[in-house]
Order: sequence, then structure tokens, then C-alpha cells
Amino acid sequence: MAGLDYDVVVIGSGFGGSVAALRLTEKGYRVAVLEAGRRFDDPASESPRERHRALPRTSWRSRSYLWAPGLGLTGIQRIHLLRGEKGARVLVLAGAGVGGGSLVYANTLYEPPRAFFDDPQWRHITDWQAELAPHYDQARRMLGVTVNPTMTPADEAVRKVARRMGREDTFHRTPVGVYFGKRPGEETGDPYFGGAGPRRVTCTECGSCMTGCRAGAKNMLTENYLYLAERAGARILPMTTATAVRPTPGGYQVDVLATGPVPRRRRTLTTGQVVFAAGTYGTQKLLHRMKADGTLPGLSDRLGALTRTNSEAILGVERFLSRGADHSRGVAITSSFHPDDQTHIEPTRYGPGSNAMGMLRTLLVDGGGRAPRWARAAGQLARRPWDLARLPNFRHWSRRTVIALVMQSRDNSVTVSAHRSMFGWKMRSRRGHGEPSPTWIPVAHQAVRMLAEELGGMAGGTWLDLFNIPTTAHFIGGCAIGDSPATGVIDPYHRVYGHDGLHVVDGSAVSANLGVNPSLTITAQAERAMAAWPNHGDPDPRPPLGAAYQQVSPVAPKSPAVPSDAPAALRLVH
Ligand SMILES: Cc1cc2nc3c(=O)[nH]c(=O)nc-3n(C[C@H](O)[C@H](O)[C@H](O)COP(=O)(O)OP(=O)(O)OC[C@H]3O[C@@H](n4cnc5c(N)ncnc54)[C@H](O)[C@@H]3O)c2cc1C
Ligand code: SF4
Repeated sequence: MAGLDYDVVVIGSGFGGSVAALRLTEKGYRVAVLEAGRRFDDPASESPRERHRALPRTSWRSRSYLWAPGLGLTGIQRIHLLRGEKGARVLVLAGAGVGGGSLVYANTLYEPPRAFFDDPQWRHITDWQAELAPHYDQARRMLGVTVNPTMTPADEAVRKVARRMGREDTFHRTPVGVYFGKRPGEETGDPYFGGAGPRRVTCTECGSCMTGCRAGAKNMLTENYLYLAERAGARILPMTTATAVRPTPGGYQVDVLATGPVPRRRRTLTTGQVVFAAGTYGTQKLLHRMKADGTLPGLSDRLGALTRTNSEAILGVERFLSRGADHSRGVAITSSFHPDDQTHIEPTRYGPGSNAMGMLRTLLVDGGGRAPRWARAAGQLARRPWDLARLPNFRHWSRRTVIALVMQSRDNSVTVSAHRSMFGWKMRSRRGHGEPSPTWIPVAHQAVRMLAEELGGMAGGTWLDLFNIPTTAHFIGGCAIGDSPATGVIDPYHRVYGHDGLHVVDGSAVSANLGVNPSLTITAQAERAMAAWPNHGDPDPRPPLGAAYQQVSPVAPKSPAVPSDAPAALRLVH
């Protein structure tokens, strides 16, 4: 629309935001991507190694690793404690920076099992598995998914545990978004986008994926969707935090603040439409505040319902001797198995020198029972004082440790709501629909104890587990898809009920527990949502907001960014 700064403002540059940026730019919209974090890729540099020099060398580089902008830390790792009712509190790990969670994530890209598509929240709307299938295929090709080629000592031990639990048939190597090529560490031309993408370096299996890949082998969003979007004309605005979205006669006004300690520069942008893609925590925080203070009064009362932790736990095994296998070698997640039909365990690693996350770990203590877990941990440490002496030792922690990332497809959730505190609006959680989110997962504790026997180490969890606060790197939901505002926050095309021109396209739109890592699903859902948009200026094939769902044919973009014969070319299935 004439007179507006942009046709579409996308808030957040993670998986959902990057897909929106590329696909809408290809369709002729003038797109701005607001990103609270900083830029870690150098767009002026042709060399893949030079392009990613700003990423942290290890997790001890707090300014580039940790996110606490009020303290001047603008790194890639967010850590949010979601407070609330007992049993509903959770520690949320997420990403920050241009590329969002792809900077800090562990590359693992699974399609979820059937149960996800058949969840009662949305199964009556359409056959989601069939409808999303071509978009999963597109997402896989865009993110360069391939099977991790290497079995590490940790994978051999995990396979033995799977065998002991009678589940060896579920053991497999991980599908990852990494460029392996023929020889490690080799610089090559663009392997995915027919020359429209950046030059790349092949993976050296250095294990540093979760501190960002400085080599340029990990298929971060800065190597695919965002790279292509920016070259096609999208504007990326780093260190720009969206604080409010206000309806105006011609569309919306987006209030933004320069990220960082006070005082900060404020300004407003005008736009026809807004895509919320600030990640589950960021999008919910914005929407809750704007519903509570009356800025967006039409938002559904279902906002915050069906927020999921992916039923997750982060456990691990640590060997105390430096001698022995180096568990920091390999990509971040190399294999997985299912100790039962609803639980999934993945051995995970940090690279050499990235030992900071070791500060979160402690003994493994089961939940339940009368005595609090922290008291039982204290009792165990009193009986085994040598463990107490070993815990502060972070030297070579990543080489000695195999993290066990546990997730489940069970139907549990928390409900998130907004409360005013003396420091402004805060989010709080309480128990939600379904069973309570687990504060411990017995079958996972059993598997991790077996893994400790196989590896000759100590089974562990995090300090927060001792207070029944699980940790999740896969915080999803809260803006679920529903067939009306009474059942969901967004419609099946990801449009926000109650406010025409607003959309949610990120982890918060994932409407059921996945039981697998979510990024491929977020990407596929975003691809599907964007495929239904018209080219700029054309009639909209989607029924009006609030009308009954009908399947619409995907709309081909006027100016595709990737040549049609490239491996990751856009293939729309009609
Ligand atoms: C350590 C770790 C490992 C992980 N490993 C995996 C894995 O192997 N596989 C997998 O599938 N998933 C993994 N995840 C999860 C994955 O990173 C997320 O599920 C995914 O990134 C979510 O995508 P999204 O589109 O919802 O938004 P995000 O990728 O979270 O991006 C949101 C962006 O919005 C920005 N933002 C937030 N608020 C604002 C605001 N107000 N204004 C402007 N910008 C804002 C944030 O800074 C962020 O960059 C991992 C996560 C972590 C923390
Ligand atoms: S293992 Fe190393 S080189 Fe390979 S993707 Fe991860 S960080 Fe990059």
C-alpha cells in the first residue's frame, strides 16, 4: 500500500520468520525483518570462513554466546525462566541473532510421527500429514537435510542401551541440516541453490554446532532462506526489538526499540501486514502484553493455552577421567533411539572448550517420593563426597560428557498468561490441558543410568530438576491453530483471529507435542502458510478470516529466487 514503510514486517528471523521473508519477497512484497539480536554473518564477505567469524569460539565467550542485552550480552543463547504454578515452571532455551535458533541449534531435522498430525486440537480441520507432506519435502531440500555419516563412541554406547532395553530396532543415525561434501574442511561453491546461494565449507565434525558453526558448514538460515531473501530485496534490521503492534486505518504501526541497555532509540514503522515469528517465548510475550493492555483487544482467549515443553528433559553422563573417548567429536546430535513408543533420546555434544553449560549439571535424582529432590541430592553428595568435589570441575567437560536430550509425544501442556508486576508485564505458567508436563521421565532416567554403565561415568541432570523445573530447548505452542477463535489463536492459514493482517508463523503455531525436534515442522508449516499468500496486488485465494477452511492451491511466486533446476528449487504441488 502506498505511503507505508513496508508491505510486511516480519518480527523475528528464526525458522518461521526466514521462510516468510523469502517467500513473501519472491511474491513481490516489500519485506522488513526485525531481529532483536545482532548479526553474526558478514554479508560483505564471500569466504564462508570469514562470513561467520563473529560467532563465539566457545560457550565461555559470554558476549557472543549469552543473551542478556540489559547487561550488554548479545549472544546467540537465550535462557528464560518461565515462573508460575508448581509443576508448570520451565527453563526455556532459545536462540537470538539474525538466523534465530538456527545459530545455536543442533541441526537435527525430523518429521514427527503420525500422532502429531492426529492431535484432537486440529485433526478435524484437514489431513495435516497429507497437506504438509510437500512442504516437509521443500523444507528438507532448503535446509539440506542428510543423514549424519559417523558413528561416534557415544552412539555405540547408545545402541547398546537400546539393545538392553529391547529397542535396538529404533536406533538410527540423525537426519541433520549440515553440508558434508566429499572431504572435511573443503571450500566449495553453492551446493543447494544452483549458484544463487553462498559458497560453503564442508563439515569437519568438530562438535561446535551449538555455539554456531564458524566454519560455515551448518545450514543455518543465514546460508539459505535469509541469504536468498536479502538478495531478493528483503531488509534485515538487526538489534531491533519490536515492542508493540498497533492497528492503524491503513494497516499497522510497529513500535521498535534499539536492543541494548537503556537509554535506547525508539521509532515506528508502518506496514500493511505483520508476521509474528519471534519464537514461542518472544511471540507469546508480545501478544500477551498487547492483549492485556488493550492494544490488540480482538486476540483469542486461547492465547497461551496448549503451550508445550515437548515433554522434555536434559540429562547426561559425565566421565570424570580426562582419559578415554573424546565425546566432543561429531556433529551436535549423531543418533537417537526410542526407549518406548512415546519417548525419544538423542546423544548430544558441545565442541572442545565449550564447557560453560556444565555449570547447569548435577546428580541424577528421581522425582516422586516424600523428600524433596534437592534434599535427596544433598544426601547422596554427603554419602559420596568425592562427587561433590568433582562437580565444580569443568575442565574438558565437553570431551568427557554425553548429553541425553529426551523428548516425548505425550499430550501434556501448560497455559501461559500475562501478569503485571512492578517491572512490567511478565508471563506466568500454570498446568494446562492434558496430563501435567513431566518433571522427570522414569524411562529416560533408566536409559541414562544404563548409558552411564556403558560409558563408565556418572548419570546426571540439571540443578533445576532438583526443584522440579525441567529444561526445554523446544518450547512450542500457545498460538494454536483452531477452527474458530473459540478453539485457536490462528486460523489454518496462520492468520490471527480478530485482527486481519496479522499472522503467526513460528514455534508458537505448533499445535501438538511433536516428540521430535521442531525446526523442520516450523519450516514446513511456514512454507505451507506462505504458499497460500497471493502475489502482491493479486486477489487472495484464501477465504476471508473467520470463514470455514478450504484447501487452496499454492500460489507460485512471480520472482522465484532459486533456479528451477537447483536441488532446492521451489516445487509447489497443486
Ligand atoms: C541449544 C539448542 C539446540 C537446539 N537444537 C535443535 C535441533 O537440533 N533441532 C530442532 O529442530 N530444534 C532445535 N532447537 C530448537 C530450535 O532452535 C527452535 O525450535 C527454533 O529455532 C524455533 O524457531 P522459531 O521460528 O519459532 O523462532 P526462533 O528460531 O526462536 O527465532 C525467533 C527470533 O526472534 C527474535 N525475537 C524475539 N523477540 C523479538 C522481538 N520482540 N523483536 C524482534 N525480534 C525478536 C529472537 O531473537 C530470535 O532470533 C534447539 C534450541 C536450542 C536452544
Ligand atoms: S560439526 Fe563443526 S563444522 Fe560441522 S556443522 Fe557442526 S560446527 Fe560446523
